[in-house]
Amino acid sequence: MAERMDVAIIGSGPAGISAAITATARGLSLKLYGNMAVSEKLSKAHQINNYPGFYGKSGAEIADAFSDHLNAMGIARDEAKIGGIYSMGDYFSIAVGSDVAEATAVILATGVNFGRPIPGENDLLGRGVSYCATCDGMLYRGKKAAVLAYDQGEEKEADFLASIGVEVDYIPMYKGTPDLANGDAMNVIEGAAPKSIEGDGKVEKLILGGANGEAERELSEDAVFILRSSIAPDKIIDGLELDGNHVKVDRKMATNIPGFFAAGDITGTPYQYVKAAGEGNVAAISAASYVAAIKKK
Ligand SMILES: Cc1cc2nc3c(=O)[nH]c(=O)nc-3n(C[C@H](O)[C@H](O)[C@H](O)COP(=O)(O)OP(=O)(O)OC[C@H]3O[C@@H](n4cnc5c(N)ncnc54)[C@H](O)[C@@H]3O)c2cc1C
Repeated sequence: MAERMDVAIIGSGPAGISAAITATARGLSLKLYGNMAVSEKLSKAHQINNYPGFYGKSGAEIADAFSDHLNAMGIARDEAKIGGIYSMGDYFSIAVGSDVAEATAVILATGVNFGRPIPGENDLLGRGVSYCATCDGMLYRGKKAAVLAYDQGEEKEADFLASIGVEVDYIPMYKGTPDLANGDAMNVIEGAAPKSIEGDGKVEKLILGGANGEAERELSEDAVFILRSSIAPDKIIDGLELDGNHVKVDRKMATNIPGFFAAGDITGTPYQYVKAAGEGNVAAISAASYVAAIKKK
């Protein structure tokens, strides 16, 4: 049985990092899921002049300072993309790749994703459409799958699929040349964009349009892995109340699900580092109270 941590923090941007710092200071056991580069939205910012103490610094410099802070406090990052969270009453079960972790409370700090769903994506989710290659890849061993990668960091997910014997059509949706370890074993299709995912009850094909107006192209597929930097929050956990595209929270950053908190861009505008970090701090304090109450029971 998985050892149960006090709080799982999903997302390693300013909100998740701030939550991890406060949760650690409060003595909670935790895992911080995300990536070692902190957050693309931070590391790619040219210059940030509205975060106290960092005037004139680039996003990359601030990301390094955040990493140093985590290291100084002994807070490790678990470089895993969380594909699903299940409320089990007084704890949560969390799909970490092909493993499962347990936490009494969760703080969701996965940022916002501006992309619209691809036609067919929502209908075929769980029926061949997946957001996590390491979670669902084994189901398609010996079969054919398209990988729509919106971030270069997702290449390792495609490499994993090829390494377990999935026949991969790799479609990079980012700028830059793909640098795949198993690229020779894949069919790499550049300069294309998804138009729709189609199938009768399960994924059967992916329709591509050329980015420069070329004719449509139809690929037969058993699965389509859509790898964006962040997954829509209501796809991560069932029953989460939204306010438009954002997670609905109160002033304690509590959602409608007991023990489930949210912080940062995912809770709404303004999209700002300092707001994200502040909400991460509040969410961790609220999670600490929740965990204490559960432990008293
Ligand atoms: C180019 C650019 C410049 C900007 N400049 C400024 C500025 O000057 N000042 C300012 O205040 N704001 C600025 N912003 C806005 C700022 O980037 C955001 O408000 C801030 O990054 C939000 O922090 P966050 O922690 O909520 O989310 P993010 O920074 O988006 O971090 C989310 C993290 O969660 C991870 N994640 C997502 N899904 C999962 C999952 N399923 N499992 C595990 N991890 C996951 C992501 O990989 C990422 O690490 C800028 C944004 C951009 C794009």
